[in-house]
Amino acid sequence: MRHLYVHIPFCARRCSYCDFSIAVHKRVPAREYVACVERELGLVVAQGSEAGLETLYLGGGTPSLLPPDAIAVLLASLHAAFPGTSADAEITLEANPEDVTAESAVAWRRAGINRVSLGAQSFEDRVLRWMHRIHDAARIGAAMQTLRTAGFDNVSLDLIFAVPAALERDWSRDLDCALSLRPEHLSLYGLTVEERTPLARWIARGASAAPDDERYATEYLLAHERLHDAGYEFYEISNAAVANRRSRHNSAYWADRPYLGLGPAAHSYDGSTRHWNVEPWEEYRRCIAAGRSAIAQAERLTDEQRRLERLYLGLRTADGSPLTAIDRPGPPLTAWKGAGWVSVHEDRLVCTPEGWLRLDTLVRDLTGRDGDG
Ligand code: SF4
Repeated sequence: MRHLYVHIPFCARRCSYCDFSIAVHKRVPAREYVACVERELGLVVAQGSEAGLETLYLGGGTPSLLPPDAIAVLLASLHAAFPGTSADAEITLEANPEDVTAESAVAWRRAGINRVSLGAQSFEDRVLRWMHRIHDAARIGAAMQTLRTAGFDNVSLDLIFAVPAALERDWSRDLDCALSLRPEHLSLYGLTVEERTPLARWIARGASAAPDDERYATEYLLAHERLHDAGYEFYEISNAAVANRRSRHNSAYWADRPYLGLGPAAHSYDGSTRHWNVEPWEEYRRCIAAGRSAIAQAERLTDEQRRLERLYLGLRTADGSPLTAIDRPGPPLTAWKGAGWVSVHEDRLVCTPEGWLRLDTLVRDLTGRDGDG
């Protein structure tokens, strides 16, 4: 395994659109959490191995809620378990702007973090309040400045687009604000309505409109235009980067490489079987404390599922999928090319931004099946 994901499930409050498995805590049980991950590590990683990691991703939840000294202890344990990890491994921390202080940023650098993914989401205070975010817009710029001062030269910003029209969010201005900070990487996610979220409840009782497809498409295409003009490459359906700053960790997922996940709700994949841990922090803690595996379920993928998944993952990226992977290269493909939604480069089928907006339909048309197999 060259790619490791560690899930840190704690959040200070739940965002209005979020259905992730999180544990809302005023005080994060940092020592207990790190001890659990170290124990799980002992259960799943062979001792004495010379293995090294290419990428390590601390995701959540809100990993930046974990005190910096706990992050340092965790990283030291992970390095000890993967002694072959080289100095140029990509080590990412997801952080919320309110957790970025001069002290935390310096401590993260010292602990070995070399990439930060910052949950900005919007540069409008009204929108941030609606999302139940803790930070305000000014905090994003301050956090970016603090990270730069601490020596981070690889920072990604997350933004959410297609929020309901009633919020009168100026997406164009938000893109300008994000670009003015010159992040090396941007992740753009369209708002989706998940069950059992405050947003779903607001919509159910008529207090909020559902996001609409037209706004989604308009804002998505505007982002492509702006980011392209600013020198970014959309190398995946939701991700854009300047040269040499693609996310190596996420690129491994899209390239169908094996990965290991630790922590509650973390997924692992060995190239043919996927398994995932129990989601609630308390249940995970009990399993590990009892010396049991925290795996909730496993799924062995058939060859056909793997083939479809590779096709789908490939089409998500700017590298596309080989034409040979397509079952029905005849009339459906001709129609898609004619509409300008896909193009062919060196025997690979690549989506245009318009095609990415229709990716699920494309996969269905080309294979006669859904993208998830
Ligand atoms: S900070 Fe992230 S994980 Fe936590 S509630 Fe908000 S969106 Fe969900």
